[in-house]
This record gives sequence, structure tokens and C-alpha cells, in this order.
Amino acid sequence: MFELYEKYLEVIDKYLEKCFESQSPFIHCKIGCTDCCETGEYPFSRLEAEYLMAGFPQLQPEIQNQIKNNIKYLLRQKSECKGRFLHRCPFLIDKKCVLYERRGLTCRAFGLACFETVDGKKVVKLPECSRIGLNYSEVLDSGEVDMSKFQLYGVTGPINHSLSLNYFEREILKGVTDLEFGEIRPILEWFNPNH
Ligand code: SF4
Ligand code: SF4
Repeated sequence: MFELYEKYLEVIDKYLEKCFESQSPFIHCKIGCTDCCETGEYPFSRLEAEYLMAGFPQLQPEIQNQIKNNIKYLLRQKSECKGRFLHRCPFLIDKKCVLYERRGLTCRAFGLACFETVDGKKVVKLPECSRIGLNYSEVLDSGEVDMSKFQLYGVTGPINHSLSLNYFEREILKGVTDLEFGEIRPILEWFNPNH
């Protein structure tokens, strides 16, 4: 059922591996470092959400229950939240993504800096963890990005395009596969019975 998507993932993973390699002086990711899964909305397309949940039945029953409880708790909190609801991912258990191999596309790009277009201007988007001394903290100077620091570390610059889910789906491999990703929602919304 997911053969085509798994082929696409192989290509994306290889592509991202090169991106991480090209940025290696700024990458401090290691096992057990999970800040990128602690605060966010985690956009997932329908295809990614279905692929993630296809791994759910293979998880231990106690892990399944923890995920269900996390989701229930977060949906309750979200219903009381007026603004944007940022939260820990419900699949992060004991500092580990329990469906790592099936994680979404944006999860795969966590930790890279790239250019985004904001109001027609190209701006550098750093990962959140740069603010806590992790990836790309070296290019920050009093909280601002200092582009000259990239060259100083032998890196041309951030990845030269957006790494958003929309970009992955619409631009990378455009026309090569006929995958249908479907609607994009924050991860929790795939479990919201009122949505
Ligand atoms: S699916 Fe896994 S990698 Fe993605 S945010 Fe959740 S815990 Fe992190
Ligand atoms: S992206 Fe940042 S928070 Fe996530 S594993 Fe890498 S260094 Fe840690």
C-alpha cells in the first residue's frame, strides 16, 4: 500500500543526508536529544499520518496506551487554548520517537537551517534549538543571524530553499512520482474527533 511512498522516502532521506553533511559544522544532533519534538505543531499530510499510524499496531500495548493518553490529554488542553497550540509530540515517549522510521517529512528535516520567503524577502530560518546552544548556535550573534559565520565554518550558507512540508511535496521530485499527499494538518488534528 505504501510502496511508492517508501521509495519516495528513500530518495528524500538520501537528499537530506547530503543536506546534513553539507551543514555538518553546525549539526549537534545525537541520540537522546529531543528538543525538536518537545514544542511544535508538527504538520503531517494525510499520507504521512496514515503511514505513521500503520506502525501503531506493532507497538507494545503499554506504548499504544501511552500514546492514546497523550493524545487525549493534548486534545483537551488544545480545546482550552486560545492561540496557537504548541506541545510535545504524543509519539515522543521516554525521550524517544516510538515510530521513528515512520516519522513525517518535516521531522526528517528537523535541525537544518534554510531560507524561507517572508513578505517577498528571503530570510534565514534557524532551528529552534539554535537558541539553546545546539544546531547553528555558532551563527547567532546577540540573537541575530550573522551570515559571515557560515563562511567562517566553511559552509556556503543555509540550505538554499524552504524545507517545509509544502516544499517537499510540491517541489522535490515534482513530476517524478504521482503520490497524493492530501490535506496537511497539525498532527493532533488527525486525532480530533471534532475536526
Ligand atoms: S513523529 Fe517522532 S520525530 Fe516527529 S515530532 Fe513526533 S516524536 Fe518527533
Ligand atoms: S535538531 Fe536540535 S534538538 Fe533536535 S536532535 Fe538535533 S540538536 Fe537536538
